[in-house]
Amino acid sequence: MLGYRHAFHAGNFADVFKHALLTQLIRALRRKDKPFRLLDTHAGAGRYDLLSAPARKNREFAGGIGRLWNRKDLGPELADYVEQVRALNAGGELREYPGSPRLARALLRPGDRLLLTELHPADHAALAVEFAGDRQVAVHHADGYEALTRFLPPPERRGLVLLDPAYELKDEFARLLEAVQVIHRRWASGMAAIWYPIRDRAPSLRFQRTLGELEIPAILCAELALYPDDGPPGLRGCGMIVINPPWRLDETLDRLLPELLDRLRVGDFGETRLEWLAPAP
Ligand code: SAM
Repeated sequence: MLGYRHAFHAGNFADVFKHALLTQLIRALRRKDKPFRLLDTHAGAGRYDLLSAPARKNREFAGGIGRLWNRKDLGPELADYVEQVRALNAGGELREYPGSPRLARALLRPGDRLLLTELHPADHAALAVEFAGDRQVAVHHADGYEALTRFLPPPERRGLVLLDPAYELKDEFARLLEAVQVIHRRWASGMAAIWYPIRDRAPSLRFQRTLGELEIPAILCAELALYPDDGPPGLRGCGMIVINPPWRLDETLDRLLPELLDRLRVGDFGETRLEWLAPAP
């Protein structure tokens, strides 16, 4: 049932979008001294070898992090994200890519905590090795949705849940809607970020409409599309829903999204979108 392996896609344009935004969310949490907790429900393997057979199969990273790697003219937010990838590549050559767990770990301060859940046995095993002996990181071989009732609210009372599922299941958006309500019930002040793919647009648009009707305040939606709706089948773009976004994230994304498009564009087409699905109170 678990067919998806992120190793084939690590560092592609969708990862760049997701991880550049994630970096900004964690930076915002660091603005206050009080410790925070991050819960990464669909953690993947933690880090990826870009010289491995899966990564080399379609070389998706070449259209993502590969486009930014040698640029010296990046804006501050993209430069910040690329710096995190550089920290993993000591020789200066792009060989390894940090998944969300490795990226998040690099941004923790001594009192902050990271909790990871991953269901695939091989990816969970890789995660367990990656963070063995790290007292700030807990790794669980568990269902990310069940983790919400098990681990929320966190003792720190501030932090972020990242939901980044593989969208292999037909009811993934329905599960996410349920998850959003669980998070809101258990931890209304927590931040949540949900990545989603844009292939056929209808399911993600329905998801957004329903989110806007849940009577949960402060829901921001950011999207990047590199291919038109009538283009070849596949991943046209992706989006991130942020619930309880940090102050002025919309202003940051207003700069970051056009820059992402500019750096990652593959042809004439390209679109970004930034919209409040529910206003902040
Ligand atoms: N968040 C990772 C990153 O940014 O580096 C990538 C995650 S990948 C898109 C999705 C992961 O979710 C896969 O590794 C898959 O095995 C895992 N997965 C699928 N269903 C799950 C579930 N119910 N609970 C936890 N993990 C799950």
